[in-house]
Amino acid sequence: MIEFLPLKKVTERYSDEIHKALTGVADSGWYLLGDEVKAFEREYADYIGTHNCVACANGLDALWLIFRAYIEMGVMEPGDEVLVPANTYIASILAITGNGLKAVLVEPRRETLEIDENQIEALITDRTKALMTVHLYGRLSWSGRMADICRKHGLKLIEDNAQAQGCMTLNGRRTGSLGDAAGHSFYPGKNLGALGDAGAVTTDDGILAETVRAIANYGSSEKYVFRYQGRNSRMDELQAAVLRVKLRHLDEDNDLRRRIAVMYMDGISNPLVSMPERLHDQSNVWHIFPVLCPYRDELRKHLLKNGIQTLIHYPIPPHKQQCYSDWNGMSLPVTERIHAQELSLPVSPVIQETEAARVIQAVNSFVMVGKVVEDGE
Ligand SMILES: *Cc1c(COP(=O)(O)O)cnc(C)c1O
Repeated sequence: MIEFLPLKKVTERYSDEIHKALTGVADSGWYLLGDEVKAFEREYADYIGTHNCVACANGLDALWLIFRAYIEMGVMEPGDEVLVPANTYIASILAITGNGLKAVLVEPRRETLEIDENQIEALITDRTKALMTVHLYGRLSWSGRMADICRKHGLKLIEDNAQAQGCMTLNGRRTGSLGDAAGHSFYPGKNLGALGDAGAVTTDDGILAETVRAIANYGSSEKYVFRYQGRNSRMDELQAAVLRVKLRHLDEDNDLRRRIAVMYMDGISNPLVSMPERLHDQSNVWHIFPVLCPYRDELRKHLLKNGIQTLIHYPIPPHKQQCYSDWNGMSLPVTERIHAQELSLPVSPVIQETEAARVIQAVNSFVMVGKVVEDGE
C-alpha cells in the first residue's frame, strides 16, 4: 500500500536529532516559555523574513489571536467583515467568526483553487477590514494586485500559511511575510510538523506581535498584571525543540515533495483528470497534490484497488456545514464543484519515485466504462 502520509517514516529520518532535542528538554527541567521557544521564534522569523514571530499552541489559535489582537488594538470591531476564500479549511473561517467578525466568502478560481482576485472588490463594503488569503494546498495565493487592492481599500492582509511553509514568490519572498500578519500551523501532517500541536504568528508589526503575545499569555505581559481577557495558548518547549530540528530540513523536504509533484504533472495524462495549474517551482510546496475528477469517488476506489491511498480536501465546503447553518442556502458553484471533484494524491518527502510511477500508471489507467468524456467536466 502506498500510504498517503506515513508520518512514522517522515519522523524516522531525523530520529537521532529529534531524540537529542527531546532528551535535552526533558533533562533541562524547563518546559514552557523557555530557551527553545525563544530560539525557534528567532529562527522561524529569520526563515520567513519577518521581524517578529510569536509561538502559540496551534494554527487555529494563531489566526484567532491575530484578529483578537486587532480588536484589542481598535483596528477592528465585532461585526466588521473579513473576506476569505469559500473553499478553505474550516479553521480559517472559525478564526474570523470566533471573534464576532463576519466572514464574507469569496469564490476561488477552478484553475488555481485559490481565491479569485476578480471577485474581491465587488464584495468590499465600508465594514470590510481585512482580506485573509489562504495558500491552500501549499500554493502561493498572493499577487501584487491583491496587495494593491488591500492598500487601496485600507484592508489588513492576513495570510493563512498553515499549508505553505517554505513557499516563495518569484522574487524570493516567503509566504508568511507578504501581508500584515500570518498564522502558521505545525500540526504533524503540515510541511513543517511538530510531534503534536503547535502554531505561530509572524508579522513585521511590533505592536501587533506584543499584543498577540500578551493575549496568548492570559492577557498579560507583566506578571500578575492583566491588560486583556486573554487565553492560554503556548507552544511547549518540547515542540519548539523538535521544530528547530525540522526547520533545518524544511527546504530539502519541500524539494522532495516537488520532485514527486513534477513527476505527476509530467506523467499524468488522463482526460478525466484535471491537473493543478503550473506555477513557478518555488511558489508551490505541495502540501497537497489536488486533482479534479467528475468521477472522483470511482477514481478513488480504482486507486485503492491498485494499492494507493488518497484523501479528499475537503468533502463538504464550509458554507454547507451544520455549524454555519445560516449559510447552508448559499450558492457557491465553483466551491461546490471543487468539493465534489477534488482528490488528493499521495505526496510527501518519503514517497519513492517508483511509487510515484505506480500512482501515475494507476491514474492513467482509470476509465469510466459507458461514460462519454465531456472535456473534463
Ligand atoms: C491546519 C490548518 C489550520 C489550523 O491549524 P491547526 O494547527 O490544526 O489548528 C488552519 N488553516 C488551514 C488552511 C489549515 O490547513
